[in-house]
Amino acid sequence: MADTKNGKYEIVIGLEVHVELNTNTKAFCGCANKFGAEANTNICEVCLGLPGSLPVINEGMVERAVRAGLALNCRIAVRSKFDRKNYYYPDLPKAYQVSQFDMPIAAGGFIEIETKESGKKRIGITRLHMEEDAGKLIHLTKTGQIGDAEASLVDYNRGGVPLIEIVSEPDMRSAEDAYQYLTVLKSVLKYIDVSDCNMEEGSLRCDVNISLRPRGREKLGVKVEIKNMNSFKNVHKAIEYEAARQEKMLDAGEKISQETRLWDAGKGKTFSMRSKEESHDYRYFPDPDLPPLETSEEYIEKIKNSLPELPLQKKERFEKDYGLPGYDASVLTESIATADYFEAAAKSCGEAKQASNWIMTELLGRMNEAGIEDMRETKISPEALGEMIGMIKKGTISGKIAKQVFDEMFKTGEKPEKIVTDKGLVQITDTKEIEEVVDKVIAANPQIVSDIKAGKDKAMGFLTGQVMKESKGKANPQMVNELLRKKLNG
Ligand SMILES: [Zn+2]
Repeated sequence: MADTKNGKYEIVIGLEVHVELNTNTKAFCGCANKFGAEANTNICEVCLGLPGSLPVINEGMVERAVRAGLALNCRIAVRSKFDRKNYYYPDLPKAYQVSQFDMPIAAGGFIEIETKESGKKRIGITRLHMEEDAGKLIHLTKTGQIGDAEASLVDYNRGGVPLIEIVSEPDMRSAEDAYQYLTVLKSVLKYIDVSDCNMEEGSLRCDVNISLRPRGREKLGVKVEIKNMNSFKNVHKAIEYEAARQEKMLDAGEKISQETRLWDAGKGKTFSMRSKEESHDYRYFPDPDLPPLETSEEYIEKIKNSLPELPLQKKERFEKDYGLPGYDASVLTESIATADYFEAAAKSCGEAKQASNWIMTELLGRMNEAGIEDMRETKISPEALGEMIGMIKKGTISGKIAKQVFDEMFKTGEKPEKIVTDKGLVQITDTKEIEEVVDKVIAANPQIVSDIKAGKDKAMGFLTGQVMKESKGKANPQMVNELLRKKLNG
């Protein structure tokens, strides 16, 4: 859906994503960078901005920012600097935020997404810069409305936590594009281990810029920013809502005003927060307490060489080496744990496509139901899954019985052979035994039998089904078919 509902406008979307880096300490002081600590326990004179205190750049932050920039195909600046972004807010004790304005650490990158509608597509990354997080306000309110709060509390533990902000080009054209971009971005950041990207804990937050323009027009429309989205699903919903809202306004001849809006997930609506600031409102200037940041070509090269195989490279290798379809390859490479699991299972049974099918439909489905995110936490080892697939291949169990075995493996972690033996699930391949069941089913269904003899071949499926049911799914389906045909045609 690259166009709005009436097809007159094109939707243009750019995203700004804030990611908290997983350093041990904060951006410019030695306080612990840890989520969930008791309020105001990880603070010092530097992150509280007390007079006379001086910040020191955390090398771990710079290294992670460079790593992220490289993984996102950006140019890394050998020389960059930190600036003060001035604004007052109670959770910002210094009344400015240390950020990077005109000389970010990285710029000019891209990531590749693949959607059903637009196929493979590159989304440009304008820039990536480092900055510090603000503290957190907690409003004591019974109604949920800030205006009704009896008091507001502030926790500065998050103040000074290192962030990278990743700004995309306005290259996305639908809610689906944005969803995929975020999925790929998160996957890359997790591969290179710069953040846990935990959205519930606020480690990854997203602002959406969205505007409409008449189809075929080059000039961008007036954009609206939707702030602080904390789930990909909400980003998807907010974009669809906002595109429809703007379409209605434009159709009625109304003007869109440049503003910041908030998404209310409960109501499923965006509402106006304030008119959007321009960068000059922030009175940026170079931070006089921090020296310009100098890296070197050698330093950048060293980090480049230490990067792991990234999702896109892995995806292409899976397509080439295992002959997997693009869709399979992208699902399996979303996390390193899933990719490793697949490779181990495929190696153990020699049936890559089968392994992929079982992982994508059965295993991921059950993990989802059980609320398990990491494949390493399931009870089925990849080798055991491989063994089970091997048993289907050898004809020891049918594909149908395998689902039963799989369920048991998922629950207990038992080996497939043991489950099959203990539960008596071995496939019946004894002709005599199957023949007995076939005869019984034929005798019980005279009408169907005469239909088949009169040429209604479709009714055959019903009889096969009855035999399988009678044998509790254990009869070899191919043998059942052959015996039925022989008896009815002979
Ligand atoms: Zn501190």
